Amino acid sequence: MKRREFFKTCSTVGGASLLCSSGAFPLMSPLHAADPVYQHEARWYEKIPHKRVKCLLCPRECVVDDRERGYCGVRENYDGIYYTLVHSRPCTYHIDPIEKKPLFHFLPGTQAFSMATVGCNVDCQFCQNWQISQIRPEQADNLDLPPARVVEMTREAGAPSIAYTYSEPVIFSEYMVDTAVEGNKYGIRSVMISNGYIQEKPMRELAEVLSAVKIDLKAFTEKYYRDVVAGELKPVLDTLVLLKKLDIWTEIVYLVVPTLNDGDKEFRDLAKWMKGNLGTDIPVHFTRFYPQYKLQNLPPTPVGTLERAAEISRAEGMRFVYVGNVPGHKDENTRCPACGKVLIQRRGFWIIQNRISEGKCPDCGEKIPGIWT
Ligand code: SF4
Repeated sequence: MKRREFFKTCSTVGGASLLCSSGAFPLMSPLHAADPVYQHEARWYEKIPHKRVKCLLCPRECVVDDRERGYCGVRENYDGIYYTLVHSRPCTYHIDPIEKKPLFHFLPGTQAFSMATVGCNVDCQFCQNWQISQIRPEQADNLDLPPARVVEMTREAGAPSIAYTYSEPVIFSEYMVDTAVEGNKYGIRSVMISNGYIQEKPMRELAEVLSAVKIDLKAFTEKYYRDVVAGELKPVLDTLVLLKKLDIWTEIVYLVVPTLNDGDKEFRDLAKWMKGNLGTDIPVHFTRFYPQYKLQNLPPTPVGTLERAAEISRAEGMRFVYVGNVPGHKDENTRCPACGKVLIQRRGFWIIQNRISEGKCPDCGEKIPGIWT
């Protein structure tokens, strides 16, 4: 159903408190790109005949009619020009430990000014933040935070980085680029916490202003991506290879969902692929699933399954393998891959001890990859 038909249908069955297609949210007055407040032209798209546009930001390549929106719900065609409706309009921000992202080899023990707009370009059945990722801008109370104000607030908080996180920053890439550029003027670094479902050109442009990226690699089969994520695996793998080529510090998170992506073969295939395409230094976090959103029928991941995934990865040669969402687990710690000593001791999001000195193990001198200062 097209957007205008959708609103028309909604308006005939009950007004502001009715359910909409994305869930049980009140439908507010539709905002649209005709309003000068939202007239920030999108950066990655092409115009095609009959006032239509083709979005070139993510692999979906939505073809959008005049007065309609793309799949992510935050980009609108108005008179043949494509606009982002969420530039400078985050729906939430917090100050978080960088370990919460999680980034374990990037400025450990520091805080990140963390922000998101509504919207996402996939629909993971296990989404932890579906209340913001699966809605449209008019369904949230959005703030007015231009890039300069975000940077000012980050500096006031004494945080050395800004994290674009919670929902999917790919869909607010223009805002992310502009904020990162502003932050870089003051030595504030930017990190993208993303699904990696993005086209090469925008990723290259983002890489010029970002300092680190965390990619949620949600499984290692196209079937899972199709059935559980509503996306595709191949473009995400391409993004990881591109980030490696561009030398952007990257960490991978793999959320292990019982029965759906937890087979030994899948863990082994993943480890072999990482080793062959990204090298053995990229950190990989196997994190625990808890029932969420549309996946309420599955139990939390057994800790033994996470340990098995970690063991298989290490056996294949990966040097920095973590177990996540299990506070107090020994595999939250960073160990020197050469001498085996604990270098960073963590509990949950907190650093108990950091012994890395000038990027090296203080005991054997092994260089530990990451961004430490
Ligand atoms: S960013 Fe949004 S509009 Fe663009 S192709 Fe992806 S889902 Fe479609």
